[in-house]
Amino acid sequence: MGSFDYFEDVSLLEGKDETEALNLLKRPTLFKVNGQDNSRAVLVSTLIHGSEPCGFRAFLEEINRGRSYPFDVYFLVGNVAAAKIAPQFSHRNIPDGRNFNRIWCVDAPEGEEELCIAELEKFICSLPLIGVLDLHSFMAKGVSPHSFVVSIDDETLGYAKKFTPYVLKIEAGMGALIEATSKLCPSFVVECGTHNTPEADAFAGEVLDKFFKEFGVLDGSAGEPLTQYVYVNMTNFKVAPSKRVVWAEEEDTSADATLRPDCESLNLSKVEAGEFWGWASSLDFLKAWKGKTAVDVADYFYIEDGKLYLKHSCVPNLMSANEFIAKESGFYLFEKKEA
Ligand SMILES: [Zn+2]
Repeated sequence: MGSFDYFEDVSLLEGKDETEALNLLKRPTLFKVNGQDNSRAVLVSTLIHGSEPCGFRAFLEEINRGRSYPFDVYFLVGNVAAAKIAPQFSHRNIPDGRNFNRIWCVDAPEGEEELCIAELEKFICSLPLIGVLDLHSFMAKGVSPHSFVVSIDDETLGYAKKFTPYVLKIEAGMGALIEATSKLCPSFVVECGTHNTPEADAFAGEVLDKFFKEFGVLDGSAGEPLTQYVYVNMTNFKVAPSKRVVWAEEEDTSADATLRPDCESLNLSKVEAGEFWGWASSLDFLKAWKGKTAVDVADYFYIEDGKLYLKHSCVPNLMSANEFIAKESGFYLFEKKEA
């Protein structure tokens, strides 16, 4: 393959520990494990963000079981270059590089990374896929595992509810891998827990097992649905690149905004209108989008006496007190889906 590596078995990585395995990879790599029936396949994606090793670990554990499958199983190891930057698994993207989960479904790809993903996308979308699982983790601590889906049709939601206690619908136009594959089959991002923790690693292994059972790769069932919460109508917020934000208990007037240091505690919880968010003299430090469409931040936040408040009740997610994340992928506000 031109811009990614492709192997029709996993012998390269069998018996290797995670460091040895990662060092054997050079760039985005797709592995195929041939099943008995080649007319169907599932894809498991890992390390699309280099700092999220739980899926890669679940993949290595799985291949070392030496199982044979009833149909084809593909494993993707995404941002190999970012994952390899020392210390291993510390970098989401390569410095100044693209976010590998924001450059799918690009009409006119440009540059090495977009062209690579476009080539991968073309190949992946030519496969007879019946299910896609993209394993991730997040920076925040104390937040429940959760799934993202593009579609909340009954079939997709039925599966997602077995994987995680929360399911969140993302908007098309983000450029996520599951946007490309949802056109073919039910596709899930599962956020397994905090980056590089035993809890996230264990959850990724469990979800992989459930995914395989639900899609018939393994015998058995994933058990009863876990989900009680489905969130929709996503808006993405990012701190403007030129603005400086800090997270502190008291206002820092040298910054464009001071945000609550406990913002992570709001993730996946229902937050009421009027909730205090921090201090700012203007809303200019924030940008907002629904999918690819820019929307007005003033529809979501307001300022009174130099303080920033939430305008409507909502459910935040992926908030963390980190300027790089706040600018690069930002945070999200959702609404609870009424049953
Ligand atoms: Zn991720």
